Amino acid sequence: MKKWVIVVLCIVAVVVVLGSVIAIRTMTFNSKQLPAGSKVDYKIDNDQAAQRLAESLKFQTVFNQDKSKVDYQPFAKMQEYLAKTFPLVYSTLDVKVINDYGLLYTWKGSDPQKKPILLLAHQDVVPAADEGWKYPPFSGTIADGYIWGRGTLDDKSALVSMLEAMEYLIKDGFQPSRTICLASGFDEEVTGKEGAGQIAQYLKDNGKDFEMITDEGFLVISGAIPGIKAPVALIGTSEKGYLNLELSAESEGGHSAWPPRQTTTGIVAAAVDKLEENPFPGKFAGGPAGQMFEYLGPEMSALYKTIFANTWLLDGVIQGILSASPPTDATLRTTTAPTMLQGSDRENVLPRRSSSVVNFRLLPGDTIDGVTQRVIKVIDDPRVTVKLYGGDAHEASPVSGTDTDAFRSFSQTIHEVFPEAVIAPAMTNSASDATCYIGLSPNILRFLPQRLNSDEIVMIHGTNERISVDNYGEMIDFYIQLIKNFDK
Ligand SMILES: [Zn+2]
Repeated sequence: MKKWVIVVLCIVAVVVVLGSVIAIRTMTFNSKQLPAGSKVDYKIDNDQAAQRLAESLKFQTVFNQDKSKVDYQPFAKMQEYLAKTFPLVYSTLDVKVINDYGLLYTWKGSDPQKKPILLLAHQDVVPAADEGWKYPPFSGTIADGYIWGRGTLDDKSALVSMLEAMEYLIKDGFQPSRTICLASGFDEEVTGKEGAGQIAQYLKDNGKDFEMITDEGFLVISGAIPGIKAPVALIGTSEKGYLNLELSAESEGGHSAWPPRQTTTGIVAAAVDKLEENPFPGKFAGGPAGQMFEYLGPEMSALYKTIFANTWLLDGVIQGILSASPPTDATLRTTTAPTMLQGSDRENVLPRRSSSVVNFRLLPGDTIDGVTQRVIKVIDDPRVTVKLYGGDAHEASPVSGTDTDAFRSFSQTIHEVFPEAVIAPAMTNSASDATCYIGLSPNILRFLPQRLNSDEIVMIHGTNERISVDNYGEMIDFYIQLIKNFDK
């Protein structure tokens, strides 16, 4: 046989084998979704429930970074309102007040062998001025099939629907075997330290350990993921860490007419440049993004499905696609964002000190210490001092497992209320009150049963925040079902 024939045959063989492996992997890339079921519906009177939520929106529960500027009156008034509106909850559950406005409700279960579950929702909201709103943000207006106002999405609807669910269950004669707790902080939008921080500390001091903790996080979103038509319900099983480092350099200063070859500003700028030129390595397979696509991939259109079924071959290609846009790139790596830069305060004076602050969001697995060491190594300049900036640094969370009873019960609940939704675990980029509760449960699941499409997300902290009356009814159904499913 001629040599070239052998070469061609070899190439054909490789292509056939490769093609077969790709085809087999794609065909066996099975769905991880639950089998089709029927939707639960507890026949809640949605209009009356909407009215009760709308009333709670009228209390301007805005916390301020400066504690001395906080008006606590609306918090006190809202708590009076909740006690009056949910009488069975307040007469059946133990309600403990922590640090004046933090609330911890405990509904004692009959079986002490079962670890309790904990629901989280915060009372505070971000400020809102009337401008740009169709209905004023604190008017509690119900119109056009929606409840309008600050807090309808973030996060009063969660707090009030959880109370609705408990009130319903008590009225219905339900008696839990597993203890159910609800904790509500009052400064989540600022730091969470006064509310969630203090409640979590109290629970830790009392040796509490929860089967599952749930907090706000992802939603039921339509149109956000290419290749999937169905709404997607992501469950936040991990959360990125947070770190600010200050890079600085110092000199004698002097007149700018006789500058050295490099001023401290130049030294710091060069260090910043090196960090941007050397991003943290990306991680798809085996990381949070890879895990998410193990669930989403089988539900995607043919081309995407083929790609995600073959990460063994296409990991680099996938990382290339995801790194093209900042939000998806952030799912792959610890991100580097130089945000502050300071040199001399006069144009003709050499800076005695120049500095830059760089913000990092840590991928689970990376640590504050490891990131700091890498930064020093990449900068590789003894003239630059690297140190921790601000007091907000925290490590990335542990990753809650998916092969657990808690994840299964939680997914089952989503599936029963939103049967058409595709469910997947994911990593959140931002911190919420749940951050304070890390260590109190191996299963922290960040999700709110709210339906939005991808361009409605701007309503959160934005203008015209609203939730449909029907979706609010689904929120109540969700929490009733969640309590029941965890009681089995
Ligand atoms: Zn929130």
